[in-house]
Amino acid sequence: MQKKINVTVWNEEDGNQAAYPEGIHVAIGAFLKNDEQIGTLRTATLNQPEHGLSQVILDDTDVLLWWGHSYHEAVDDTIVERVRQRVLLGMGLLVLHSGHASKIFQKLLGTNTGQLRWRESGDLERVWFIEHNHPITAGLGEYIEVPQSETYGEFFNIPIPDELISISWYSGGEVFRSGCTFKRGSGKIFYFSPGHESFRIYDMPDIQRVLKNAIGWPAPVGYPAVAADEHPKSAEDIYKESHQ
Ligand code: ZN
Repeated sequence: MQKKINVTVWNEEDGNQAAYPEGIHVAIGAFLKNDEQIGTLRTATLNQPEHGLSQVILDDTDVLLWWGHSYHEAVDDTIVERVRQRVLLGMGLLVLHSGHASKIFQKLLGTNTGQLRWRESGDLERVWFIEHNHPITAGLGEYIEVPQSETYGEFFNIPIPDELISISWYSGGEVFRSGCTFKRGSGKIFYFSPGHESFRIYDMPDIQRVLKNAIGWPAPVGYPAVAADEHPKSAEDIYKESHQ
């Protein structure tokens, strides 16, 4: 049987998200609850000790979801570095919506990922999937239509993604790389932009399908566990040991 995936959903704060009085982390947790691929499902918020991301919790997390908007600066650099190290060692990271400007995303990608065009006018967004036959787009159609969304537009200051999963078009004319994958160390990162706090986009079954697929994609599948501060053996040593 395949190992279950332990998931932690992080949100910057309870109750600050207009359409989600329960908190976006609770709304996301609600539709993940019955997902059979998931083992332990946790939520964590900024106001908890260590932002709910102690080393113990992170070590037991296979995939971390990150939603932040107004309080990126309030996230402690020590915790950011702790998350970064876990990603480099193989933890999957899903960065959602305005999480594009989070410290962790900027630090892992190395560019000013906070830079993009945006507009809050409730435009229609059409999320076109351009990567077919991919675990993240499994079971989805050619596109998802989000009736009202926050507009994000290029230029989005990210490094060239390893895979461009989706491009969004908005009725106001902008386009945006709304679904992108990146690999950093042993860790896989997926950025997905639909998820503005003023519309209940996370209630849409197809959006939920993307997130569920995306949780299955970056989960660690077994890899040589080399600690960050450990030097791998030299090729020569490995050769000698195996030919004694
Ligand atoms: Zn937003």
